Amino acid sequence: MKKVFCGIDLGGTTIDVGIIAEDGVILSTEKMPSFVERGVDDVVGRIVNAVLACGKSVGTAFSIAGAGIGVAGLVDNQNGVLREATNFPGWINVPLGAKLQDVLKVSVTVDNDANVAALGEYVFGAGRGYPYLMMVTLGTGVGAGLIINGEIYHGAYGAAGEFGHITIDKNGPLCACGRRGCVEAYVGTSGILRTVKERLPAFPKSRLAAVDVETVMPKDIYREAMAGDELARSVFFDVGDNLGYGLGNVVNLLNVQRIILGGGVAAAGDFIIKSAQKRLDMMSLNNSETPVKIVPAELAEKAGIFGAASLAMANL
Ligand SMILES: [Zn+2]
Repeated sequence: MKKVFCGIDLGGTTIDVGIIAEDGVILSTEKMPSFVERGVDDVVGRIVNAVLACGKSVGTAFSIAGAGIGVAGLVDNQNGVLREATNFPGWINVPLGAKLQDVLKVSVTVDNDANVAALGEYVFGAGRGYPYLMMVTLGTGVGAGLIINGEIYHGAYGAAGEFGHITIDKNGPLCACGRRGCVEAYVGTSGILRTVKERLPAFPKSRLAAVDVETVMPKDIYREAMAGDELARSVFFDVGDNLGYGLGNVVNLLNVQRIILGGGVAAAGDFIIKSAQKRLDMMSLNNSETPVKIVPAELAEKAGIFGAASLAMANL
């Protein structure tokens, strides 16, 4: 029987399950709403059913050697416990790993979604061959996962990788975390919109002047940047530049080999990556012989299940 691995991506709105072979071929997938409000046991029950359905559809020539699950929140990966998560109100210290393991009868590894995405890119995506890397996911918040020596780096209490809250200006704008000048306060969605608002008076001819800046999304700004809008372009240039400052700090501290950029805003990659790369090159102290390259993520919406399956493989 051929060994395969199960990857589970547990999000606040959807759950994705996939069975993946060691060579990265997806054999079967299931997708369903999370219905978090129905409680832990209901959610676990539906994950189990999805895994069993996937297992059935790949047939008896394969056996599931292990499962991994990625979830947005603070995770005790040693014990497979979800400590707390914004998207899962009331879920405190949930032993997700043990609950799934009891029914599925395979070993289940639990980790934070940003760590899982980084591992997935390392094993199957844009990070292949780079055992020292950081993956940054741009969105409302700024998530990051560190791969050090080919493994997820958790830190002493599982809290490593808070790249979004590296301070790049102690007098900078207020961040969602309550402090000032964090990377996220510049490159997170609300930081981007704040910058647009601040600059509108200087660009009266911008097409963004006609939109409602309260509801405009980064993808709309991206569309205008593509169409040549000066304001939109200047905003993304600075998003990249500020991102580059943060990345420079990381590269100088950890000597990672590659930076992978994912998430919604990263769709504007061509604008952001160029200026981020330029700033990073200027920031890096030991960058002359082997420059650290910033590249877009490759696994896109499949990052969750690929990463979680990689977690199971790594655990074996
Ligand atoms: Zn912050």
